[in-house]
This record gives sequence, structure tokens and C-alpha cells, in this order.
Amino acid sequence: MDLYLYNSLTRKKQAFTPIKSGMVGLYTCGPTVYNYAHIGNLRTYIFEDILKRVLLYNGYAVKHVMNITDVGHLTGDRDMGEDKMEAGAAREGKSAWEIAEYYTQSFKKDIELLNILAPDVWVKATDTLPEQIALIGTLEEKGYTYRTSDGIYFDTAQFKDYTKLSHQDLEALKEGARVERNPEKRNPTDFALWKFSPPGSKRQMEWDSPWGVGFPGWHLECSAMSMKFLGDQLDIHCGGSDHIDVHHTNEIAQSEAATGKPFFNFWMHGAFLIIQGGKKMAKSEGNFLTLENAFLKNDINPLVYRFASFLTHYRKPMEYSDEGIEAARNGLLHVQNQVRQIAVAGIGSEPSVNTEFKTKFIQNLNDDLNMPRAMATIQEMLKSKISDAQKYSTMLDFDRVLGLRLDQLDQAEALPEAVQKLVDARQQARQDKDFETSDKLRAEIEALGYQVQDTPDGMNVVKK
Ligand SMILES: [Zn+2]
Repeated sequence: MDLYLYNSLTRKKQAFTPIKSGMVGLYTCGPTVYNYAHIGNLRTYIFEDILKRVLLYNGYAVKHVMNITDVGHLTGDRDMGEDKMEAGAAREGKSAWEIAEYYTQSFKKDIELLNILAPDVWVKATDTLPEQIALIGTLEEKGYTYRTSDGIYFDTAQFKDYTKLSHQDLEALKEGARVERNPEKRNPTDFALWKFSPPGSKRQMEWDSPWGVGFPGWHLECSAMSMKFLGDQLDIHCGGSDHIDVHHTNEIAQSEAATGKPFFNFWMHGAFLIIQGGKKMAKSEGNFLTLENAFLKNDINPLVYRFASFLTHYRKPMEYSDEGIEAARNGLLHVQNQVRQIAVAGIGSEPSVNTEFKTKFIQNLNDDLNMPRAMATIQEMLKSKISDAQKYSTMLDFDRVLGLRLDQLDQAEALPEAVQKLVDARQQARQDKDFETSDKLRAEIEALGYQVQDTPDGMNVVKK
């Protein structure tokens, strides 16, 4: 079955085929490790994880590379402002290297809690300086660079397809950039490949180069690393939609200028997380929630957030609210309870996945990762007439994509048989619209120490 993915480059859903048969090279832009990841950032990593799991589910081998930005990312995307790492170091009274190490570990812990599969290659920007310097050298030889008093810049006017990803209007950009433009830049879209350490001061992170002591521009690392580990023509590159206009546009320009070949065939971008009131979650907005302060501190399993993100398509903004998370918490609990019930029949029996529902599930996934529809298919399967043993096998097969750790549910948390009987009877009463019996059964369940919540997908029963 063909896998269709939305390609930001063509602005269309396209059938995906890897360059090398059976093997997909996947590059995902990683975190800048100067602070905790906020849950808006983490939404993007969950979307990328679903993409990777869907590729695996379709039978592809995947080589996944993720960078760790530990140098060179300034507070303004267009090479202005402070260095985020050095600012983080000053804020916390630590060295930039300590800050990088601390927040890298914190990020790795977050993705483990969200059951995001780790990349095959983690690579730090500071570990690929020779490759980044070599790439600047190639661009210089080909005439794409120029020197200003603060660095070596890429001349975007030399690269004719500069806006092929962003579809931006360059004239409007020039107008908009007049006010704060760096007067030495030839075009407002030009970007730094190498920045010099400021004269008379020593940075914590700086290196020698043929152009002088300094540090690489932020966009350079992703080009250098993806080509180092995946080759110079690649399959899928992902990131947040805020990367389209500057970061990914610049990656394409410098990579294709250097190699003369198309860089990645597919570019995929996850939409923002917005908080109530419509604001984008961003560190600069001061409204950022982390897994720690929004979930762990409130004793909510981070997988609730993973589950919540399945309910909005990755290309649509996802609204975050306490009510939304409470609903996702009940939704996940409900699925877990459903799985616990069928596990009784399923564990130890010969696994047999239901092909009809599996086909439907893959159709949903292969239609540009339509997780909301895949979740509906799951409920349809769980409520169908197929045997519990088959439901269980099918559910565990689906969990290769969902990543909800449904094979690790604690059966001790399953409902006792007496409660389960009442729950089944109440389910029947509700279907029959016999509300009197339903209310009576609810009281009986509650008398046994359980709480009953009615959700659109059915009943949730949890210990009080
Ligand atoms: Zn990147």
C-alpha cells in the first residue's frame, strides 16, 4: 500500500519512495540545549516519532539522525541577538558546556518518558566542526560567500531557488527588513556561516578556522551532519513549522549550492501547540510548560500527552488546555482498561492480527499520518464482534505505532471480576437506554470503591 506524505516543498500529498530501496534516511532537527524542552517542542518530536514508526510499520528500515544544537544558535533566527548557550550559562552561573550537557540529558529523559524511539545517531554540533568548516570552504570556492566585519555570510542572491520551500515574497521581506537590517549584509536573507568571536573578548565556545577564531552559524550543522551520516541526497527532513522560513530554507540553499544536487526529497513540518487564547507556546513568550511542571508534578503519566497529540492531525495547530489533558487522561485510561479486559483472553493464546482492521489502520496512517482517524478505527475494532484474543493481538500490533506501552499494563490494576460484571451490565443498560438500571449499577460499582466516568468512547472505571 502506498504511503502518502504531505511534502512542504511541493505543498502536496505525495506517494513516498525512498532513494535507496527499502531504506529511509530520516533527519530531524534536534533541540537547542540551553533550557528545558517545552511541550510545544515535544509535540513535534511525537509527530516525528509517529512518522518513524509508520515507516517501520510499512516495512522500511530507517536510519534516523538527530542533532543536538550546543553552539551557534542566536536568540534571533537571522544571526542577531545573543548566543542562546552563553546566555543560558550566564543565567545559571555555569559554563556553556555544563549547560549543554545538563539540558541534553533532560531532553533524552523527556523523550524516553514519551516513549519516543531514540535516533540511531545523536550528534552534537560541537562534534562536527571539521565537517562544518569544510562545507564553508566548498561554498567559498564556488563563490557563494562573502566576508563582513562579524563573519562569513552566504549570499542568498547567488542561489536561484532560495524560496522554493518557504514560497516567501522576497521583495516584501526586503521592505520588512529595512529597520533592523545589518548594513553589511548584501541581502536581508543572507545568513552567517561563520561568526567571529567579538574582538577583545573570549567566548566559552570558539574554534580556529581559515577565516579567524569564531563559531559556526546555526543552520550549518544540520547540513553538515545530515550529509555526513546519510549521504548528500536524502529522503525525509522534519522539524517544526517555524523552521520553514529561515532554518530549513537556509539548509537547502547552502547544501544544494555545495553539492549541486537536490538535498532532501521530502520536507515535513509539525504545526504549533497553542495555549488557550490562541498564543503559540514559545520560550520567548514566557508561557512554556514542560513535562515536569505540566505532567510529572501533577502525577500525570507523560504518555497522556502522547495520547492527546494523536487527537489532532500533526499539520493542524493543537490547542492545549487543562480540560483537554483531563479528557486525554480519561481517554488513555479507557483504552488501557479495554486492553486489560481483552488481555485476559489474549495472553498466552496464539497471536492472530485481524487483517481487515489492520488494513484500515494502515490506510489511515498512510494517508499523511491521519492519527485521529486511526484512533477511531481502534475503537471500532475494540467494539467489534471479533474475539478478545484477536482484539488483543491486533491491539499490540497497532501499539508498534501508538507506542502506548500497552504490552506492559499492570494486570493488578485490572478490575476485579465482581466489578467487571457490573460494568458489563451497565454498558448493556446504557445501550438499551435503560437509565434507571444504569444509575442503579453505577451506585453498586461506586459502593465497591470505584469511580465511574462516562466518556464519548464508553465508560471509565477507576479505583477511588
Ligand atoms: Zn536543523
